Amino acid sequence: MVKESEKLKFGTRAIHAGQDPWKWRSGAVVPPISLASTFAQTGPAELSECGFDYSRSGNPTRECFEECVAAVEGAKHAVAFASGLAATATLLHVLEKGEEVVCMDDVYGGTNRLMNRVFVPNGVTVNKVDCTQLDLLEAALNEKTRIVWIETPTNPTMKCVDIEACAKIIKAKLKRPDAIFVVDNTFMSPYNQKPLQFGADISMHSVSKYINGHSDVIMGLLMTNNDELAAKLKFLQNAIGAVPSPFDCFLANRGLKTLHLRMERHNSNALKVAQFLEKESMVEKVMHPGLKSYPGYDIVQKQCTGNSGMVTFWIKGNVETSKQFIASLKVFTLAESLGGYESLVELPCVMTHASVPPEQRAVLGISDQLIRLSVGLEDIDDLIDDLTNAFSAVA
Ligand SMILES: *Cc1c(COP(=O)(O)O)cnc(C)c1O
Repeated sequence: MVKESEKLKFGTRAIHAGQDPWKWRSGAVVPPISLASTFAQTGPAELSECGFDYSRSGNPTRECFEECVAAVEGAKHAVAFASGLAATATLLHVLEKGEEVVCMDDVYGGTNRLMNRVFVPNGVTVNKVDCTQLDLLEAALNEKTRIVWIETPTNPTMKCVDIEACAKIIKAKLKRPDAIFVVDNTFMSPYNQKPLQFGADISMHSVSKYINGHSDVIMGLLMTNNDELAAKLKFLQNAIGAVPSPFDCFLANRGLKTLHLRMERHNSNALKVAQFLEKESMVEKVMHPGLKSYPGYDIVQKQCTGNSGMVTFWIKGNVETSKQFIASLKVFTLAESLGGYESLVELPCVMTHASVPPEQRAVLGISDQLIRLSVGLEDIDDLIDDLTNAFSAVA
């Protein structure tokens, strides 16, 4: 249906790319959930023109989602997995003996745990570096470096990394053509940031967050423009087998249809919340990419088209103040995760980042007073009232 999808803008791609109703014969405008685990062959080892044989290797509903999400990210290839961490774990299997990972020091707690507790004990070297300091990144790269992993903005301290500057350093210093620069793009979503345009080899997403957007799917993605790398990832997707279910692919594909609308509201609501927090006397500091006071503001202007719904702030007081503040909120729900239509609040030191060793948490500033908000799509006045009431409760 959409043959020249490159010409189309974000929302049109999200709704039409890969969604041709005639590919299902019936003309169904909503893709069917193709539950079949296996597909009839026209002869032994002769696949039908659709090219499916077994659902782990390929599935029509999954392919439909992968095509659409690749189009919105402006990527040639998208490969979907059973979770964000399944995507990461699968990718880390490209590593061969003796190869190293250089990883941003502040990353999603689960990424940190996967590297430190699963891959490091198996002989992988992971070098943690603050990639906002480009000289530190450059110094950490060596001939054994195969993967450079960053997240921007980081979780939960919202540090901003210059993707293009990192890519230049990596290309200049690592001569090996198989070096892979990965950006975990979960926090920004494809609507606000497209790392491949700035020199990343892979844009990784936890689909569980903004892309699905309804807090009812766990899924992950790796996207790339590199054909050879895509072939390797598809091989690993099938060989390791951490694939998403057709039902989840259906839901994520549906969520994707409104990503542009949702992100507009996440962006505007979060900016208003962040501006409100900046003026609140009980608040020590606010980190949000849309604020002029944000340390990475200039980088955001260059590499992002929006600021996301994520806001981190440090409340004045101690762990009890944080807990009492959170307990006083009525619209924000206390829960892990982010990127859904509902507003969430969490205390990273004991929740999402409890698995990060205390010494590392201290270095990163993940203190008892750090509160993370995922600002949802509710009416902004109700969100501000809710926060105002919770501050009054702890004052
Ligand atoms: C949630 C998250 C992940 C992990 O994704 P899952 O789908 O939960 O496995 C990775 N990175 C970031 C930034 C996340 O927020």
